[in-house]
Amino acid sequence: MECNDSRCPVHGAIMPRGMQLTGRVVSDKAKKTVIVEMDSARFIYKYERYLRKRSRVPAHNPDCINAKTGNVVSIAETRRLSKTKSFVVTGIVK
Ligand SMILES: [Zn+2]
Repeated sequence: MECNDSRCPVHGAIMPRGMQLTGRVVSDKAKKTVIVEMDSARFIYKYERYLRKRSRVPAHNPDCINAKTGNVVSIAETRRLSKTKSFVVTGIVK
């Protein structure tokens, strides 16, 4: 498939650097954008329980990857692409 996306990490002009994360796509409603959700759990000794945390990160979804809701994707930090996006999808894990 032809990819003309200038914000594609493979065919475009952006350079991923910094954090690399893996998460689940929970929304692909916005154009060329996906919301990636990540769960983490940390044990708190005082209460002998796990503190569950969830974070959501908007990431750019290039044409040649085209991740859908339900996919597990790897994302990488890059320059700020819009008001809220500073991550780009680099591949579909599952
Ligand atoms: Zn591409």
